[in-house]
This record gives sequence, structure tokens and C-alpha cells, in this order.
Amino acid sequence: MLANWPNAIALIDADYFFAHCELARHPEHRGKPLMVLGRLGSCILAKSPEAKALGIGTAMPFWEAKKLCPKGIYLQGDFRYYTLMSRRLMAVLRQWSPVVEECSIDEAFMDMGGLCDLYRLPFEAIAQKIQSEVKTALGITVSFGISVNKTLAKIACEIRKPNGVMAVPGIGIESFLATLPVGEIPGIGFNREALLQKWGIKTGLQFAHMPHDRVNRLLGQTGLQLWREMRGEVAFPLQSAAVPPKSIGRTSSFDKPTSNLDWVRGLAVYHLERALESLCDHELFAGELTLYLRDKEFKTYGFGHRFERPTSDFNEWIVAFQKLFLQIPSNHVWRSAGAFLTRLTPANGQQLDLFSDPQKSVQSDRLNQAKQKLNERFGRTTVRSGATLYFNSKCVSKNRMQMPIQ
Ligand SMILES: [Mg+2]
Repeated sequence: MLANWPNAIALIDADYFFAHCELARHPEHRGKPLMVLGRLGSCILAKSPEAKALGIGTAMPFWEAKKLCPKGIYLQGDFRYYTLMSRRLMAVLRQWSPVVEECSIDEAFMDMGGLCDLYRLPFEAIAQKIQSEVKTALGITVSFGISVNKTLAKIACEIRKPNGVMAVPGIGIESFLATLPVGEIPGIGFNREALLQKWGIKTGLQFAHMPHDRVNRLLGQTGLQLWREMRGEVAFPLQSAAVPPKSIGRTSSFDKPTSNLDWVRGLAVYHLERALESLCDHELFAGELTLYLRDKEFKTYGFGHRFERPTSDFNEWIVAFQKLFLQIPSNHVWRSAGAFLTRLTPANGQQLDLFSDPQKSVQSDRLNQAKQKLNERFGRTTVRSGATLYFNSKCVSKNRMQMPIQ
């Protein structure tokens, strides 16, 4: 039999994260249906519980939501703010455990091993203390699932949302899984569930009791990993060190396909600036730029430039970008554009090459840092490339909605 807590892994997931972040700074909207709109304002990205109760769903078009809920509060998503709130959330979690793995903007796994001895409290009580600390620091609620591995912790968390805590020790796994529909196991999608049902497997417990070879034959390696986790083993270890990205890309579509190259350039440069911002946030340099375009017929084009040495200097990137832009075929109607940065390396430990002017490099660094600081303080596009002005004023911004939209 499995020991009660061979490991103690928690999944902490913020409830209605984007909507609750907005309510934290707009308390006057509490209790009202509130919707957060995506970047271009065309669909619902997140909603408050009150909006959910009215039948508003994620990814619902704005016009449909407006019909269902004409008096709701509609706010445009503010991802810089949500990212800051996410960082504060993770900082609170790290005060409780040194091993925290961020898995999305509002979700993290935490190793709670040893915390009971340290605080002389059961896991549920520790989770409640962390919940109230998050509530005080950020004004939002989080749910906790605690078990012996990641998958069981995730299922437990899902069951007790919102603002709940559920702990499933080793000894409790079988009874926990006995009533769990097999399709509720993350990773068992609709197709896998249908396949398992054919073999009479309806609950998590029946799945955990399947013979190894049958799981392997039906569901392969991924299925076997989930099967092991349902049996209380660890198939997905915790990774506390953040895995650096291999590439950074930003793209989006025009409201209507266009042949206006000023707009296309504007949108692509806007995304290049966003990608470079993310590059700096990760403290990385990149050595390759790909200008990405998609035409009206959904044909994709990529134009690449490789730098002699990796950099994050916008001045170097914009020169490379302009050269790439000259290569794009004429007489095309474009539907989306963007930029991808690849060949990423850590920003520290970079050597200046023999022929570069160190004075120029320092000046450029200072300029970039000043730009970043102003944008952090006054909003992300306060200081931006002149090439994006046309894009902002004419092609998309007129369709963007101001906040709040009543
Ligand atoms: Mg969440």
C-alpha cells in the first residue's frame, strides 16, 4: 500500500484570474457580470462568475455576449497588469516553498514536502493560510489541490474550485478515483475516453486497475504516464527551474485582409517590439529574425535573417527587419503578420565582437532601457517605433474598444 504522503505536491490555480485581477483594481464592479476582451476586442477571454451564470462562455464573440448581457462591464484585456499580478502571486508562493513550478500565468505546482513539520499544521491548514495571504496581497482567490503527484493534485484542485482546498493522501486515492469519470483525468481527451469506454473503463479507478500492457497498447506512452500517476507514482516530476523558451513569436490578424503595406509593416513591427520586450523579460538575446506573413488564401511566408552575434538591440533588429520587408512579394492581400525570434541565448556572458564600438553599444543599451522603463510606467506602447504609428491609427486601433465598454 502507498504511504500517505511519499510526496506532497500542490497545484495552486487562481480562480477567474483575469476577471478577478480587474475586480481587484475596480472594486466598484464587484458582484456585476464582468467580461475581459481579447487584444482586438472581438471575443470574450475571461469572465466573472456572475457573467458565467448568465451563460457567457470563454471565446464567445463580443456581439453574442452583448446580446446576452447588454448591461455587463466589458473591459479590454491588460496583459502587462496580469503579468505583474502573476509575478506577485508566484512571489507569495515562493515564500512558502523553495520549489515552485510555474505552469501558466495563474497556475503553479508547489512541493509542500516537509511543510507540515515546519509549521506543525496539516496540509489543508497550510493551504488556507496561503490562500488568505494571496487574498490580502492581491485581492484574488486561489484553489488548492494537494496529492502525491501532479495529475492527482490537478484533479483535486479542479473539483474544489473556486476558493477551495482538497487534499488526497496516498491512502485516499482509490476512493477518490472510484467516483471520478475517466474523462476528467487531464490528458484523457474525448477520443481516449471513448476508446476506454469500449473496454468498459468508466472511472479513474477502473483505469488505474487496467493491466500495464493493455494501457500501452491502447494509449501508448502518454497513457502509461497518466496510468502511473493514477496509481500514485510520479511520472511527471516537478521542475522548479524555469525552462527558457526556444523561440519567441508574436503574430495577429487584420480585421480584414489588406494589401496596404504600411499597415502590414506597422503590424509586423508592433509584434517585433512585443517579441523583443519578452526577450528582455527573459534576459535573453536572439540571433535570428523571421518575418512571418500569411496571405488571403492562408499561404504562409517566412523571411529570415541571421545576425553575426545574438542581440536584443532594437536598432539592429529594425535594420534587419526593413531589409526583410523589401523581399515580400507585391500585389498580395495579407491577413496576418508577425515576428519570430530564434537562436536564443542568455543575455549575460555575451562577448562584444572585436569590431563593434563599445561606446555605441552602451548608448543603445541605455536607450532601450529608458524606453522599457517608460513603457512599464506609462503603458506598453508609450514609446514605440515610428513604423507602428500607421498600424495603430488606421488599421486596427479604430476597431479596438476603449475601456470600460458599457
Ligand atoms: Mg485559473
